[in-house]
Amino acid sequence: MFIEEITNIEVVDNIEHNDKGYDFSTLNAISTCPFYGITRFIHNKVFDDSARNMALECGDLCHKCFAAYRALSIYYRGKKENKDTLMRIGYKNLYENFYDTVNGELANEELDKVLEDLFTEAENKAGMLAKYLLFSDWIIDNSGYYEDPDDKKRTIANIKESLMAYCSNFLNFVEDEPVWIEDENDINSKIGIEIPFDVTVKITFIANGAEHTQYVHFIGKLDGIHVRNLDKTLIVHENKTASRLDDAWSGQWFKSHQITGYCLAASYFTGQNCLQARVLGMQIPVPKYSGYAFRTERVDRDTFYFSDWARWVLSTIEIVEEYKDHPEKAPMNTHACCKYYKQCAFVPLCCVDEAERINIIENEMVTQEWSPLDE
Ligand code: SF4
Repeated sequence: MFIEEITNIEVVDNIEHNDKGYDFSTLNAISTCPFYGITRFIHNKVFDDSARNMALECGDLCHKCFAAYRALSIYYRGKKENKDTLMRIGYKNLYENFYDTVNGELANEELDKVLEDLFTEAENKAGMLAKYLLFSDWIIDNSGYYEDPDDKKRTIANIKESLMAYCSNFLNFVEDEPVWIEDENDINSKIGIEIPFDVTVKITFIANGAEHTQYVHFIGKLDGIHVRNLDKTLIVHENKTASRLDDAWSGQWFKSHQITGYCLAASYFTGQNCLQARVLGMQIPVPKYSGYAFRTERVDRDTFYFSDWARWVLSTIEIVEEYKDHPEKAPMNTHACCKYYKQCAFVPLCCVDEAERINIIENEMVTQEWSPLDE
């Protein structure tokens, strides 16, 4: 469909959905290769592979640590400014993070004792960096994460070393860009740490000379929303773990639809315009000779970015509507067969005829649902 113009984009309330919704990873996978994206994320099919996804596990663990640092930044800001409620907001969010880390296996009193001991120990540490790392060490050591002998990169020692580089930089940024808190006097205030969103985006557009409206069920999770002290504007913080933080890594964020969609979600969550983002990259392991262990890119969004985002979302969903009942016929974008220097797991499926594809999808592949809201 040729979309002449996007005339309006707004997030609307009170719409019930009975589908799981579209998150950025799903949309991105479909637009990269419709056959892969539709089979993997619409039909939720994967080959039965018991190997661990170390990138995913390691990324989840690091994100727990990033969230803990944000909560700690609120606690220590409250301490510095002598604001008890701020300290309690930070403590509450840290407590919830720890509770998730151990899957609720520690009783409330036990968890309170863990945090009390850690804060007491932190008092004996001279620098802020050492204080923060004490908490992420506890998360890593109690998360159930264990090393894979075949993965020499994502070892616990490497993760801890990378977090040290991340945290020392994060401590500087969070001074100028503290975590957004809607009401600093309310311990249950909305706060800019790990915000799941499940919203409906109403997109109005002109196509074939007529105005149309489409509702998109959009889901995801924001890592952080912060406030720039300079002018009190909002800025999304998006954490990324990567194996390389080169110029190509930095350059991808200037136009990234992920960032644009997150700015839209952050504006809705806070009720304020959010047109800025900072992507915080952490490399695992820390480079030994050259390169960056930590890198950040600051990007801005303007109205036309949201139009471009909406056009991309509508065209991607259109492909799903066309092929969801016939995934075996979905377009195969073979430029993606070796994306990120790794062969796509679906190559054997694509290299058989349509009848055999249906047979494999229905009888040999297993169902594995994924949603950012479950993480
Ligand atoms: S092997 Fe290539 S064509 Fe097939 S799903 Fe993967 S990326 Fe698409």
